[in-house]
Parts: sequence; structure tokens; C-alpha cells
Amino acid sequence: MARFDGDFTLTIDGKGVSAPDTIDVVNPANGEVVAQVPDCTAEQLDQAVEAARRAFPAWRATPLAQRRAAVAKFAEVLAVHAQEFARLFTLEQGRPVDKAAQEIMGAAFWCQTVSQQEIPVIVNEDSAERRSETRHVPIGVVGGIVPWNFPMLLGVWKIAPALLTGNTIVVKPSPFTPLTMLKLAELMREHLPPGVFNVVSGGDRLGPWLTAHPGIDKVSFTGSTATGRRVMESASANLKRLTLELGGNDAAIVLPDVDVKEVAEKLFWAAFGNSGQICVATKRMYVHKDIYDAVAQALVETARKMKVGNGLEQGTDLGPVQNRVQYERVKNLIEDAKSSGLKFLVGGEVPEGKGYFLPVTIVDNPPEDSRVVQEEAFGPVLPLLKFDTVDEAVARANASEYGLAGSVWSGDVDRAVEIAARLETGTVWINEAQYIMPWTPFGGHKQSGVGIENGADGLLEYTNPQTISFRKAAAGSNG
Ligand code: NAD
Repeated sequence: MARFDGDFTLTIDGKGVSAPDTIDVVNPANGEVVAQVPDCTAEQLDQAVEAARRAFPAWRATPLAQRRAAVAKFAEVLAVHAQEFARLFTLEQGRPVDKAAQEIMGAAFWCQTVSQQEIPVIVNEDSAERRSETRHVPIGVVGGIVPWNFPMLLGVWKIAPALLTGNTIVVKPSPFTPLTMLKLAELMREHLPPGVFNVVSGGDRLGPWLTAHPGIDKVSFTGSTATGRRVMESASANLKRLTLELGGNDAAIVLPDVDVKEVAEKLFWAAFGNSGQICVATKRMYVHKDIYDAVAQALVETARKMKVGNGLEQGTDLGPVQNRVQYERVKNLIEDAKSSGLKFLVGGEVPEGKGYFLPVTIVDNPPEDSRVVQEEAFGPVLPLLKFDTVDEAVARANASEYGLAGSVWSGDVDRAVEIAARLETGTVWINEAQYIMPWTPFGGHKQSGVGIENGADGLLEYTNPQTISFRKAAAGSNG
């Protein structure tokens, strides 16, 4: 436990490093400072990138079996320390501690699974005269930028494939949730060559420094669409490779043939898991008019059973919103709905007191052009919307600049699959939500992102294809 209560240091070139200044990390359940972490300077970022560059040639030449073992070691370290990580996670992120533990174990599972992935060699031609094959070689130094909603899982989505394929990495957690990632790096120091895995925490200047850094060859970024645009612009200077996992405004389409009682709780969690702070949370729920009232009632009943509170307290279902900025944004969205005369099925009253707590709020059939429908709330606020025909529901679901994911709910799976194929999103689930695994390629259409994480495609995003072609006859011969 002591290692989790102690100081937080950057990991640069395999060593723990402090910075001249620190930033405060705040517990969203009570607004109190939990810890201070180094505010990495521009010079220290240079040192981290230089260390990663120095480590790269040897790491790419390290036999794949050893790189597999190193990635699997992350899984072991996370699993061994799961309880300490989970507690620290709740303190910085707010999520109930049992669900925090699920993220830590999920991250361990990810590392274990990715450690077994194959890096393919594609044979383009293999004739009597000639062979041409395409290998997948590492890119170099990866900059991994992680948001605050899933600070560990979304981190290892980058770290595991980057290291397996032979890259080295500099990871920057969100300034709101750096603690678990700094600890992971500290615990991994003894297991990796110096410079292979660096973690730097800092304030708002650090992300732009990283994306503009000439020593970084690829940026893998998860965060908002607005920031994603800035990252893309900044990455153009040296044509960095990019993976951007951005915002979403996912629609669920609920057909009249569902068993309302059966799906109500699943629909609830699709929208309100992690207090709505999931990129692929259901953020607009389109329900057929014939079952609208029944679904509304079942969701309200489910919402009333949920305990919103401090994630360290037993029995808490939903924690606070993760940070003050986000809390103010979502509060403003609720107030806007109220002042526009929209009706709430449940919630809508923001409690007084410490901590960034917002009630589960469901808005009753607001107009399609209202802010609560058009904007990504990223908090516990859901517009419940009535539809008449499937064509209309599909058109409304697709009328968004986002295209991350969506879901279709129906007693007739074949019909649901047909509707799913009409949605302009990277992922569609049927009668479930948020099923994402190390083997399922995940990425956004439209302004929800560029590129893929996870699966075989996700792994290849950390590689450059290299085609090697040769004539089979001995060099210099005419054969
Ligand atoms: P954010 O864009 O504010 O920040 C994300 C990360 O980028 C943080 O580490 C931040 O410090 C850093 N950053 C901020 N400005 C930067 C800049 N100019 N250059 C480089 N880095 C910069 O996002 P957030 O508020 O932390 O996360 C919430 C958003 O992330 C939501 O929109 C959500 O939908 C999205 N998200 C997407 C996915 C996905 O996989 N598609 C997953 C989780 C979250």
C-alpha cells in the first residue's frame, strides 16, 4: 500500500523524476486535493522523448517473445495491485470502487490478450521468379494522450500495442486523473529497459508540446473532437501518424417489439454507466411511440433505485462527474433545458454541497434541435425521444457530425441487424451496448475519429508497412 500513498513522480528513462512545480489532483467526491503531481517542463518532455528515441533501436530489435513477455508483465502488475489501483482510481476519478476494480482488471486482461496478438506478414506474390511480402515494422516513438473518463483502460489501449509492435512510448494522462498511470509507470520501471515506457503528467501546456514535438513519430489521442482537430493540425508539422478516438453522440433505437422490463436496466446502464462519461454512452434514446411511456416509466423506476454518491462508500452505484469544468458544462445543459421549458421525467435538480454530484436526469421528448439532443452531454443527462417510423429514427440518429457508435433494441435480431447496417457509425450493438474487446476493432466515423484501436487493425496502426520484393534467382544471375 505504501507505494500507492507515496510521492508521484514522472517516469523518464526508467527513473523517477520530480518537476519544479506541481499540479493538484482533486477528489471529485468532495473537491479536496488528493495528491500533487509533477508539472512536467518542456525540457523534461524533451528528455522523455530523447530517452524514448535512444531506447527505440534496441527495443525494435528485441525478439518478439520478449516484447510479448513485457506486455504480459503489465497485466501481472495491474492484477497483483488491483485493489490499491482501484482505490487510487476512485480517489482521482470518482467511480465506485468495485467498478474501478473492473477497469483495472479489464486493463490487465487487455495487456494479456494483446501480448498474444500476431504481427502479420502479408505475402503479395510468391511465384517461381519472385517473392514480395509486406511486413509491419514499428513507427518509432509514440505519444499517447489519454482522457479522464477511463484513465487506465484507454492508456493501455495505446501502451500494449505500441510496445508489442516494437515502438517506445511517452504517455500523457489527463491532468485530472494522472495518479494511476504514474503509479503503473513506477511499478513497471524494474521490468522494462529504460526509455521504453515514459509517463509525464502536467497542465494544459503539455499536450500541445507533445503533439508538436519533432521527436514524436505518431500520436494516439483519445479525447474530445475539438481537441482532436488541434492535435491533427499540430501533427502536420512532421507528418506524424495519427489515431484519433474522439467524441460521440450515440443513438439507441428501441423498437416496439422489445420486452420493456427485460431491457430497461440495460438501457439505463447504456446511458448512465460511469455517470454518462463514456464516449460510447447512449446519449440520445429514440423509443417507438407505442412503448415510449412504458420505457420512460421503467427508466425512471430504475433511476430512482440508484445511489449517487462517494465511490468509496459501500452501495454507491454512480459517482460524481469527474471534474469541475465538466460538472459546470453538464449543469449548464440541465439549466438550459429547464429554462427552455423542457420537462424532466426524473432529476433536473442539482444538489447543493461539496463534490461534483449531478442527479440522473432524463428529459421528456425534447425537440430534436435542443442543445440536450444536439450536444454530447458527457454526464448523467439523457434525452428520451419519441419516434414513429424506423426510417425517421435512422434519419434522426444519422443527423449528427459524430459517428462513434449506436445500438438497436428489438425482439427480432435479424431486423435489428438490417437497421444497424444503416447507421453511420463505427460500431453498432444489438440489444446491448459498449461490448468492446481487445479483438473488436473500434473507431469513429465522421468527426468521431480517424483510425482504429483494438483488433488486428488497431495493432497495425502502430506499424509502418514495409514491402520487401526480390527475384529468387541468385544476385547477378540472369535467371
Ligand atoms: P479533452 O480533449 O479535453 O482531453 C483529452 C486529453 O487531451 C487530455 O489528456 C488533455 O490534457 C489533452 N489535451 C488537451 N488539449 C490538448 C491539446 N491542445 N493538444 C494535445 N493534447 C491536449 O477530452 P476529455 O474532456 O479529457 O475527455 C472527454 C472527451 O473524450 C469526450 O468528448 C469523449 O467522448 C471523448 N472520448 C472518446 C473516446 C473514444 O474512444 N472515441 C473515449 C473516451 C473519451
